[in-house]
Amino acid sequence: MAGNSRQKRQKVGKINSEEMDRIVALAKQKEQERLKGYREQSLRIHPWICARCGREFTLKNLHLLTVHHKDHNHENNPPDGSNWENLCIYCHDHEHSKYMDYEAGGGDPQSEEKTVTHKPFARLADLLKPDKG
Ligand SMILES: [Zn+2]
Ligand SMILES: [Zn+2]
Repeated sequence: MAGNSRQKRQKVGKINSEEMDRIVALAKQKEQERLKGYREQSLRIHPWICARCGREFTLKNLHLLTVHHKDHNHENNPPDGSNWENLCIYCHDHEHSKYMDYEAGGGDPQSEEKTVTHKPFARLADLLKPDKG
């Protein structure tokens, strides 16, 4: 028998809140960089013109020009820019409210299924139920 079996590390798995904050901040920062990344790419590929209303932008008001994902999937970022559209903030807003109306309207069983699977916390809430089992 080896005499080392008593050296159990009990601290493993414990993350203090400070470290948690740091991890969250890092994740946020990475997300920001990613978002910034595709916006810059799209602005490089596409003209600085709103694809909906045709408004032109310059360096002065470029912050009002946003990048929209045509398929509404922010993970889909092909480098050729085929999923990106430069939209002014107003048209972008409109585009998304349109999409939400469509989703809320139902009718399409596929979109209904999509909204159901799109609740990452539903399961968590289930797990937290005290009367489980
Ligand atoms: Zn516009
Ligand atoms: Zn969008």
